[in-house]
Amino acid sequence: MLTDRTTRDRRLSVLAGFAIVAAVISLTVAACTAVSAQDEPQTSGGKSTGSTPAHKGPPNAADGVLPDHTSAYDTDLPGIAKLDPALRTAVQEAETAMKADGIRMQVTTGWRSRKYQEELLEKAIRKYGSKKKALEYVADPDESHHVTGHAVDIGPTDADDWLNRKGNRYGLCQTLSNEIWHFELVTKPGDSCPPMTDPTK
Ligand SMILES: [Zn+2]
Repeated sequence: MLTDRTTRDRRLSVLAGFAIVAAVISLTVAACTAVSAQDEPQTSGGKSTGSTPAHKGPPNAADGVLPDHTSAYDTDLPGIAKLDPALRTAVQEAETAMKADGIRMQVTTGWRSRKYQEELLEKAIRKYGSKKKALEYVADPDESHHVTGHAVDIGPTDADDWLNRKGNRYGLCQTLSNEIWHFELVTKPGDSCPPMTDPTK
């Protein structure tokens, strides 16, 4: 009996412990929510001004984050909608032609907000240890052609390979020598592609 009682007491104290932890967690969550609610940008009557408001938290769809298997025709997504229209049309045409060749391409990144680009650069600086090295992999927000809507990253590799062989028919060229997935509208359809930039130099 004594053992039973002790066990039950222990169970009760474990349950009490859980309750305290749960209470602390919910208080913490409530506090965080309150802070982020305060930090929300002021909106004027809930109407969109067309610009992307800066927000707390990781970049999301409004910053241009695209879900897996995004098509260049998914114009309801900001990452596609905010591309330069001429680039978007060229990528759509290439996507259709590629599909006829049995290759299904996806846009992994199109337009990106400045905040998203800043975050990518900060992440790269942490990874590579210096801004100089990080800039070989991620463009400065002032330089990025994704931020202006003039670049797309395409996957998978067979789609990149197709674009490197036939993209110029649509004016699309790989422009950075160390990124086989990065394409821009930089030639006239049918003309050859200009030399690539080497970001490591
Ligand atoms: Zn890119």
